Amino acid sequence: MRGATPVADVAVIGAGSSGLAVLKALREQGVVAECFERGSHVGGLWRYENDSGFSAAYASLRTNVSRLRMQYPSFPMPAEYGDFPHHSEMAAYLDAYARAFGLHAAIWFGVTVERLERERDGGWRLVFGDGSVRRFRAAVIATGVFWQPKLPAYSGSFAGEVSHAHAYRSSEPFANRRVLVVGAGQSAAEIAVEISRVAERTFMSVRAGVHVLPRWIGSAPYDADDVEPRNRLPWRVLNTIYRRRVERELGSPPASWPRPARRLLEGIPIVSSELLPAVHRGDILVRPAIAQLVGDRVRFADGSEEVVDRIIYATGYRISLPLLPPSLLSVDGRNVPLYRRMVPPDLQDLFFAGFVDAPGGLLPVVEAQARWIGAVLTGRLRLPEHAQLWRAIDRAERRTRQRFPGEGTRSIRCDPHAYRRLLISDLRRARFRRQARSGAAAEASDCVARNRALWEQQSDAYQKRHGRQLEAHGGCAWGAWRIPEAELRILGDIAGLDVLELGCGAARWSVALARSGARPVGLDISARQLEHARRVMADAGVDFPLIEANAERVPLPDERFDIIFSDHGAFSVADPRRLAPECARLLRSGGLLAFSKISPLYDLAYDRSRARVGRRLRNGYFDLGRLERNGTADFQLGYGAWITLFRSSGFEIEDLIELRPPADARTSFELAPLDWARRWPVENVWRLRRRARKQRPSRQRVPYA
Ligand SMILES: Cc1cc2nc3c(=O)[nH]c(=O)nc-3n(C[C@H](O)[C@H](O)[C@H](O)COP(=O)(O)OP(=O)(O)OC[C@H]3O[C@@H](n4cnc5c(N)ncnc54)[C@H](O)[C@@H]3O)c2cc1C
Repeated sequence: MRGATPVADVAVIGAGSSGLAVLKALREQGVVAECFERGSHVGGLWRYENDSGFSAAYASLRTNVSRLRMQYPSFPMPAEYGDFPHHSEMAAYLDAYARAFGLHAAIWFGVTVERLERERDGGWRLVFGDGSVRRFRAAVIATGVFWQPKLPAYSGSFAGEVSHAHAYRSSEPFANRRVLVVGAGQSAAEIAVEISRVAERTFMSVRAGVHVLPRWIGSAPYDADDVEPRNRLPWRVLNTIYRRRVERELGSPPASWPRPARRLLEGIPIVSSELLPAVHRGDILVRPAIAQLVGDRVRFADGSEEVVDRIIYATGYRISLPLLPPSLLSVDGRNVPLYRRMVPPDLQDLFFAGFVDAPGGLLPVVEAQARWIGAVLTGRLRLPEHAQLWRAIDRAERRTRQRFPGEGTRSIRCDPHAYRRLLISDLRRARFRRQARSGAAAEASDCVARNRALWEQQSDAYQKRHGRQLEAHGGCAWGAWRIPEAELRILGDIAGLDVLELGCGAARWSVALARSGARPVGLDISARQLEHARRVMADAGVDFPLIEANAERVPLPDERFDIIFSDHGAFSVADPRRLAPECARLLRSGGLLAFSKISPLYDLAYDRSRARVGRRLRNGYFDLGRLERNGTADFQLGYGAWITLFRSSGFEIEDLIELRPPADARTSFELAPLDWARRWPVENVWRLRRRARKQRPSRQRVPYA
């Protein structure tokens, strides 16, 4: 990460299924978030051979939860994925999710967060792999819990090769070998079945019995009934239903398969239609726990021995939190003390997403977590006081306590439905603070989609044609003839101020302001424009948040900025009746709004039939309002209407600067001939000041067609 620009708001660490859900929810709730992912793609575990080095996916991996229970509730999976999607389909699905909700622009790929350090006055300092540092109001850890292999220790030594399931990809390296798979979880079962097809001998060391479910019962996935309201049945009833069905489908387990001590739904069963038949056939030989390693042999707890030349430990994962010192949060086995399985009681600006080990799909759970985190971060959901947080952790969900009596209440293992319902009921009870918005600003204007489409299409050509012109004066210059800010002093001293650029394009202005010590946020409606902005930022070695959004409805909290400005940006193409109140909402009292756009005089003299400005008044002054220009909607008001709009939105007018280019000015823009621009103002800049908030803005309507 280059640059160390201090910016606010939220950091999400990890762009697996959990981090993506959080990013989406935060975006929807108006929280500016940036995500840091050590790999070069989204998808986490589901991206095979992920260059993050964190994925345990093997070539044949499919979900062990059926598609309809696996998918995010807000984003159905394609039906052609079948009942149990392959990892490649999961990766494609997560990528499609990120694209559908515009998340890629907020993710930094190839960036490892090394450490989180507590700021003295709250918030977090993220220390990155390259030593750079960024500050955030809050952080969400979504780094997954299945990447740090847990390896058992046995007495003796083993002469053959040892690996962990995390490194397993396919069975070929085990052909004609005598292989021992240690463990009785999902990965152990699938790896043993696969290897048994090519190995000379396959043993499976099973310490304690585990229930096995077939993938299908009849023609339906085993979990087809795991839907509301059926999954609300008392879990003992559910347990009986499942057990009977499984017995009908699979018959009695082989004698060598140890009898589970607990009931079916009390643990996390293996989902496999192939394991028990392979054991029945003798393709997999079941052995008890390992007692000792004896050179080329393994001795088991019952005293038996087998000659083995490969051991694969499918013995699970250790929850690892290298980002935090244990003094801040300690992990003990599967126990992590988190309120609602997300918030450490002593660190209420830190959240964990996806730290849940529950039978059933994680994605529906994590989408509920993500909305919950968003509600807390926007202040709509308040956390209880400290002592209550601890009480709630130790109470957990009733059904989790009943179902997993062997687990502590701080365990990440839980009943997914009880947990999800708890989060949803929290969200329902959350007190929703109404945003101070005018009625007009609530709905996006209909030109937004058109303008977005146009900019997506023309962005590359625009940057190619005008990029150099826009770089004049280090990017800090106004209008088509780039009159320098240093001369006009419209924004004034910006060091240390929060600045929003509305319609930032390639963000050259914001880059320049960041270099001068401001804390800019760039907003644009076009993803392509923002890609150019990322490039310009990277070249300049600065970074700050970029938001892809409609300026009429900015997804940011009230009173977030000291300055909002746009240079032929949003005020040219968005409806000013929506923009002005939105800017008033976003600005702190006394904040500055400055924007340049075409002058009313120009629009009066504009000859639409010849697409150029003339020397006579051609258009009615009182007909100004919504105009069509260059294939996109544009807005213009008469001077009186502008003044009425500003005052009714809560602004005092400080200045109207009519830009006059110098006699030798040049421009790549074709707005007007230079001699026209020297005689009449082609562009003007309004400079406005947000009134103190105690004066309520009136709701005077500015009419136009
Ligand atoms: C073999 C296997 C099969 C599974 N099958 C299922 C299943 O069928 N259904 C199911 O619901 N769940 C399954 N799971 C659980 C699975 O882990 C989750 O469903 C899902 O992958 C969790 O997503 P996540 O985003 O929390 O974590 P991950 O997918 O692990 O993503 C975490 C991301 O964080 C990134 N990251 C980590 N540390 C850093 C850092 N310091 N800086 C920057 N980035 C970082 C990683 O690169 C990764 O992209 C399975 C797990 C395993 C191991």
